Amino acid sequence: MKKVYFTVGPSQVYPTINKHIISALKEDILSLNHRGLEFKKLFKSTTEGLRKLLKIPSDYQIFFLSSALEGMERSIEGCVQKYSFHVITGSFGKAWATYASNLGKTILKAEAKPGDGLELPKLYVSKDIEMICITQNDTSTGIWIPMEDIYGLSKKYPEKLIATDFVSSIPYVDIDFKFIDIAFLSVQKGFGLPAGLGVIIVSPKALAKTEALSKRGLSIGSYHSLKNLKESATAWETPETPNVLNIYLLDKVVKDMLKVGIKKIRQETNQKSKILYDHFENHKKYTPAVKNTKFRSPTTAVFNVEDSENLRKKLDKKGFIVGAGYENNKSTQIRIANFPSHKLADLKSLLKLI
Ligand SMILES: *Cc1c(COP(=O)(O)O)cnc(C)c1O
Repeated sequence: MKKVYFTVGPSQVYPTINKHIISALKEDILSLNHRGLEFKKLFKSTTEGLRKLLKIPSDYQIFFLSSALEGMERSIEGCVQKYSFHVITGSFGKAWATYASNLGKTILKAEAKPGDGLELPKLYVSKDIEMICITQNDTSTGIWIPMEDIYGLSKKYPEKLIATDFVSSIPYVDIDFKFIDIAFLSVQKGFGLPAGLGVIIVSPKALAKTEALSKRGLSIGSYHSLKNLKESATAWETPETPNVLNIYLLDKVVKDMLKVGIKKIRQETNQKSKILYDHFENHKKYTPAVKNTKFRSPTTAVFNVEDSENLRKKLDKKGFIVGAGYENNKSTQIRIANFPSHKLADLKSLLKLI
């Protein structure tokens, strides 16, 4: 039986992936020289597609990384000399703060109570802070921070850099890049690709900061830094030998999504999200883990179920894979992804079983 993966990442692959993998083999993408003309074309096409799909301004740069966790490191190493501030609503935000601390930075943070979000408009961020790091959609807890709140914070502290993890909300989340300096993602969530590729989007202001740190003789990274990524990207290249196959697949899926239209993708996600949360709101035993609807993630929903393992086993037998709760919540919660790859009909069939 072919299974449907409602896991939060890796997840159900985009419906056209098989076709694109076959064409990659036919076009000898696996042997492609990453310094050759074909690769440069691919780099250009993929970044242009992303720019169009996500409305990324023309003066922002787009680089490829090993994965999203590298985005946490690149943002800190590249743009923070001493102080970073971390908005923490789950394990991914916590990890980012830990990396900053491991890199020798002094961290300040605001941490949400379990099952609750954070009111960004109420945050006070001290003068020393160079960058505010926000996990916009923390996949471990299903907590979503509304973009308006992030814009508000950005307007309140215009001199600070705003770095954001959009890994499990992109491409659904509608981002006004005017208020964002760094955004990063991995491809195995909303884009429905195999894991092993990250993308980071960087503003001129963030690049200027990295230049300034570099000029002062400070470390901004080694084989990857925002500076050498930029230099390589000027020639449509990456410093290292990249995951060419995944860049190829991303190029294709972004083109597929452009054909469907981002508006339609967002509408469908909203529709599925409503059905999903309504089901659990009206359930006899199970409840949404995030009580305040403002902070509920439309793309990675978390539910209290008590008997997580049994429920997941039962669903697996019927061909549906859902995620366990994260870490301490493994046995009491399930996580259900609502990405563009997830079909409404499959979601309805899944919910009939829960
Ligand atoms: C999955 C995830 C990451 C990490 O992605 P990797 O591909 O493992 O680097 C980071 N942040 C969030 C919110 C995620 O969901």
